[in-house]
Amino acid sequence: MSLDITTLVERYHTPLYVYDFNNITKRYEELKDAFGGKKSLVAYAVKSNSNLAVIRHLANLGAGADCVSIGEVRRALKAGVKKYKIIFSGVGKKDSEIREALQENILLINLESEAEMKRVEMIAKELNVEARISIRVNPNVDPKTHPYISTGLHENKFGVSLESAKRMYIYAKKSKYLNPVGIHFHIGSQLTELSPITEACGIVADLVRSLDAIGIEIKFFDVGGGLGVTYENETTIRPVDYAKAILSQIKGLDVTILSEPGRYMMANSGIFLTKVLYEKVNGDKRFVIVDGAMNDLLRPSLYSAYHKIEAVQKEGEASLADVVGPVCESGDFLGKDVELPIMNHNDILVVHSAGAYGFTMSSNYNTRGRAAEVAILDGKDYLIRERETFEDQIRLEESCDTSWQN
Ligand SMILES: *Cc1c(COP(=O)(O)O)cnc(C)c1O
Repeated sequence: MSLDITTLVERYHTPLYVYDFNNITKRYEELKDAFGGKKSLVAYAVKSNSNLAVIRHLANLGAGADCVSIGEVRRALKAGVKKYKIIFSGVGKKDSEIREALQENILLINLESEAEMKRVEMIAKELNVEARISIRVNPNVDPKTHPYISTGLHENKFGVSLESAKRMYIYAKKSKYLNPVGIHFHIGSQLTELSPITEACGIVADLVRSLDAIGIEIKFFDVGGGLGVTYENETTIRPVDYAKAILSQIKGLDVTILSEPGRYMMANSGIFLTKVLYEKVNGDKRFVIVDGAMNDLLRPSLYSAYHKIEAVQKEGEASLADVVGPVCESGDFLGKDVELPIMNHNDILVVHSAGAYGFTMSSNYNTRGRAAEVAILDGKDYLIRERETFEDQIRLEESCDTSWQN
């Protein structure tokens, strides 16, 4: 990012999220190009960063959207994603969400259980429409990632087994209100090895072939998201190798490949800026207390995730410190044993790789207003979300009748 961090902090204050939109373009194009002439759609996983400006940027590049709630579907539509490029996934969709998705006539509803299929069929019947569906299968491969973000094993709540999927496709094919055109899997997040992806693709492609043999034609082969990124020193999968691995498994199938990257697109397109409040030493433990906290960036507290933290002002000798926020929880930290010089009041820290699952997981815990968000495009900065005020936070309480308490 070419813009000076200090200037950004003067202009927008902290805590602050800053996204490099040129990098988002680069990531998108690299993945899209990797599929070459093959029919493909990159459906951005909106949950990783759902700021409208981010979605709009990707929509302008031609991306679709993978959504896990009707709220995300609405965001995608509002940001200009074409309805025929929107996918609605998730294990627990409500009737009202299914109804709206059907009325909007989006590309696909991803089903995650037999019970859900029956609900979708019922609602499609009410509306007298045919629901285009995809079934999320659980290929039972070990993605070799953190258990919290692993989703492709039978012990996880996601998807259905290959046998139930086949039964569901046969049922859906016969239904007047269901049109089974897609197959979907998503084995986990932060994948850094290719073999589980290749394996899953192979298993699912075999199912597609066996469905084809009984007259069920799958048009969309959805490989989910999960492409890993470098937070510390992880080696990652190159998009060309990713595409090659997928293509090697679907030879002979006439399908459009859907992919649903979130982290890949956003993690290293964003940084989180926070200011130092105090330093203190308890026993022989050094703490740097900052104005950003777990309510802003939950990943370290939630998954013990590593984010590289760097001081902007680098004077004096560095030593190890825990970088902690003001929230009243021992688990409130952004980094442990971070090498930092002596920090002064108002010095700035850059928390790297914070563009995905950063702002979207933030909360108002401790009545802290959520951070502002800024986009950088071609060296210029643009505010894309205002800092949340106290008034914003109490609005829905203030609007309630309080006379019963007087
Ligand atoms: C979360 C999720 C994604 C995105 O995962 P990333 O690891 O961010 O790429 C894609 N598809 C589905 C169904 C998801 O639940």
